[in-house]
Amino acid sequence: MTSESSEGFHNTDEGTVAHRDAPTSRAPDDRSQRELIRVAGLKKYFPIETGFFEQFFGDQEYAKAVDGVNLTIHEGETIGIVGESGCGKSTLGRTLTRLYEPTDGSVIFDYEHIETLSGSELRPIRRRMQYVFQDPLSALNPRKTVGESVAKPLKVHDIADGEAKWKQVAELFEEVGLSQSDINAYPHQLSGGQRQRVGLCRALITEPDLIVFDEPVSALDVTLQAQILNLIDGLQDKYNLSYAFISHDLDVVRYVCDRIVVMYAGEIVERGYADDIFNNPQHPYTRALVRAIPSIRDDDHERESLAGTPPSVTDPPSGCRFHTRCPEFIDGQCVNQNPENHIVDSDDNHTVACHWAQQSDREREVHSPPSSSEREIIIREASTQE
Ligand code: SF4
Repeated sequence: MTSESSEGFHNTDEGTVAHRDAPTSRAPDDRSQRELIRVAGLKKYFPIETGFFEQFFGDQEYAKAVDGVNLTIHEGETIGIVGESGCGKSTLGRTLTRLYEPTDGSVIFDYEHIETLSGSELRPIRRRMQYVFQDPLSALNPRKTVGESVAKPLKVHDIADGEAKWKQVAELFEEVGLSQSDINAYPHQLSGGQRQRVGLCRALITEPDLIVFDEPVSALDVTLQAQILNLIDGLQDKYNLSYAFISHDLDVVRYVCDRIVVMYAGEIVERGYADDIFNNPQHPYTRALVRAIPSIRDDDHERESLAGTPPSVTDPPSGCRFHTRCPEFIDGQCVNQNPENHIVDSDDNHTVACHWAQQSDREREVHSPPSSSEREIIIREASTQE
């Protein structure tokens, strides 16, 4: 197998990546290109509980939930962060907003490094970055009315108090489609859709620049999902908000996101404009996710179900972390070489981390993946060569 002779290198969100053709810039979309947040080499490791012996001899093990992620979000843009449960997408959202302390890497918000800021230094930044949880109940105090919970950040951040505070709360409730009487309700008295609107109010009250939505509609029925997504979309246009939209549901993500990053086992394996991810997915994992979307699966496409479960992030597979499940597994290089990021079809916004990016389309067409027993032998042999 040969590498494409025209391969060169180019700078993208991923840093310097290889490309197969001369890069040309894609026509800019109608969103602003001003960078709001950039993370580079971001890692979040959680220590695994181990015995005294391991700790004493420095053999502490870690779950590498986020392992070297590069990501940029522009002003007024929605970026989708997708992948199966446990791929690290929520941890990434919480680490880039400093709800979790990063283990390593940098987080630059509005051109300021925030990864090492202390609590008091971070306070003005916190106001500008908000997080909406999947279950708003967990973020609301059950003993306070939802109005009190929404109003609290106004006092904490010295934005408003007294009558002015309640005026802002009332206006926001109206804006998201809640009634004025809902202000005095307790969380358990509201429906799931109403609580998610309260969650939106709580995020919006500090007039943020960035909101991270963590599976914001996955607990809602389809009708409510559409209503909340339309509301989120309208608010973005009105206030020029930037969104990070975390979801396992690509069917939802495709309608709300400008760009998408696909995560697997703590790493980003593909990124690109939403249209490109859905119409021209390059990573075998992305392809499997796209083909699992019912509306796409019912089309003429062959069904491609993805066998197996995501690997442990405590001891991820060597080489390409997807090699234990990949339906397009090539050979031993998948087992012992971590694939670089490659630009797809001259579009420097679309990158993929897969060894197939170095092969020609013809090689891809004629390749038949090894059987499961052949693959086991390849994996065993490649592992012993490491
Ligand atoms: S590098 Fe190999 S195992 Fe990984 S996604 Fe590509 S073909 Fe599959």
